[in-house]
Amino acid sequence: MIKQVDLVLSPVDAARTNSHLGFITKKLKINKTQVSFFRLEKKSVDARQREIKVQLRFIVVVDEPGYSPAKILFNQQNISNAKEVAVIGAGPAGLFAALQLIELGLKPVLFERGKDVHERKRDIATIHKSQIINPESNYCYGEGGAGTFSDGKLYTRSSKRGNVNRILELFCLHGADENVLYEAHPHIGSDKLPKVIENIRLRIIEAGGVFNFNTRVKEIIVADKKVNGLLLSNGSVFSVNNVILATGHSARDVYRMLNAKDILIESKGFAMGVRIEHPQSVIDNIQYHGFSRGELLPAASYNIIQQVNGRGVYSFCMCPGGFIVPAATTQGETVVNGMSASKRNSPFANAGFVTEIRDEDLTEFKKFGVLAGLEFQSYFEQLAFHNGGGGLIAPAQRIIDFILKRTSSSLPETSYISGIVPSDMHKWMPKIIGDNIGNALQMYSQRTKGFLSENAIMVGVESRTSSPIRIPRNPDTFEHVEIKGLYPCGEGAGYAGGIVSSAMDGMNVAIKIAMI
Ligand SMILES: Cc1cc2nc3c(=O)[nH]c(=O)nc-3n(C[C@H](O)[C@H](O)[C@H](O)COP(=O)(O)OP(=O)(O)OC[C@H]3O[C@@H](n4cnc5c(N)ncnc54)[C@H](O)[C@@H]3O)c2cc1C
Repeated sequence: MIKQVDLVLSPVDAARTNSHLGFITKKLKINKTQVSFFRLEKKSVDARQREIKVQLRFIVVVDEPGYSPAKILFNQQNISNAKEVAVIGAGPAGLFAALQLIELGLKPVLFERGKDVHERKRDIATIHKSQIINPESNYCYGEGGAGTFSDGKLYTRSSKRGNVNRILELFCLHGADENVLYEAHPHIGSDKLPKVIENIRLRIIEAGGVFNFNTRVKEIIVADKKVNGLLLSNGSVFSVNNVILATGHSARDVYRMLNAKDILIESKGFAMGVRIEHPQSVIDNIQYHGFSRGELLPAASYNIIQQVNGRGVYSFCMCPGGFIVPAATTQGETVVNGMSASKRNSPFANAGFVTEIRDEDLTEFKKFGVLAGLEFQSYFEQLAFHNGGGGLIAPAQRIIDFILKRTSSSLPETSYISGIVPSDMHKWMPKIIGDNIGNALQMYSQRTKGFLSENAIMVGVESRTSSPIRIPRNPDTFEHVEIKGLYPCGEGAGYAGGIVSSAMDGMNVAIKIAMI
């Protein structure tokens, strides 16, 4: 008999995993010997009241001796000689598309402009040491895509678009901790993600799939509105009729190439802003009402959603116990993002804080046509670069000073290794972004005592949260609306945002291709 048991425990009791069985049997009024198996299904912290509780949900198998839980399965087949599908981009969308293609008996051939995860690690270290961005290997490009050196947060609001559990299971099967299966806000951590990504690659190769690293797809060759092949950066042509285009939203050259070839792309709304950072202790103090969390509770996070002048302003990609990282893909642009290690134990908490950008904000960029949003993003990134301190030193301001429109004469410590310099952000930021962010921060701080800490800063700019472009596809076949054999996929295509939703989109696209 399978039962679901919900427990609400103190943080201390919740942390004592060897006492869980006792609580379960007490609640079910049975003996420990009757429990054949039990597993944690969900775990979340309830800090709404002063007394913090941890909610645990268990699946318990009672009176079924010999019961063994189902294992995570992967239908691995030898696809070495199967029909080839080209996958451009080895980010979450491309990798999970490849895994799904294998399960469905097709052979993925991946093309990735960046390096494999080990070599990529070295380029990431160089970014920090020399403040120079390698345009083909950085925080956005390379094996695992933009998600590899991230927080590895694995939650999504797009759960209706696919099987979130399957994505979590596949991460687990390839080396992620089991806790991603039950934590309310699962995350892997940048220290563990590279190994998981490598294991996925080894699986794909073992089945007969192919990886081409350091290989940028320069052009998708199209004849009579059908994909014919790919022109690669080494000058060769790869002949293929089905292509999954999963290049992420930083690959501006890909959008430009599609536009130049008259392959339909569309502009769409997007979001931009800054990254805000607090000492983690400030956020813990606010969220845990002064309770000293020690090892018992996770580093606390927050979620801000505010309406300002009819527009959404919201926090995004929160990295408690994390670091701000330089995520530009070209020299001369400053872009920040966030990551954290699995233990989330840095003394800082950061989050993106962005506002919606609409068509009406892009009047000065109209001459770029469908690429207006992309050029706006790039312009904003260049402004941040020119208002920074040279190299990757980013412009920053204390939040209180930003709200009061006064100069920060000094800045507190930050997790951003490349360094920050004081900047009057309002002076150079597009007005709509400065005004909306300032108002939203003021409103949130009025409700949340302590948030406007002297040591809270904003760092510019957070521009790569969503794609300003959609590559339109048929909702039934997922094929491009005009080009046969082209399957736009993931965040760059405008159909996903975040690791899990991009991975789900990759799997969905692969399923559609297998149905042809
Ligand atoms: C620092 C950072 C932290 C983040 N943290 C999180 C997080 O914690 N949780 C979360 O859900 N999301 C996070 N994100 C966002 C998340 O990483 C993306 O939403 C996700 O990776 C998108 O997946 P994708 O496969 O669609 O594209 P991408 O991950 O962008 O992958 C695209 C791949 O295509 C390759 N490529 C591009 N152009 C070409 C070409 N012409 N030829 C060949 N290859 C090409 C790129 O090198 C890249 O590897 C973070 C992003 C960053 C930058």
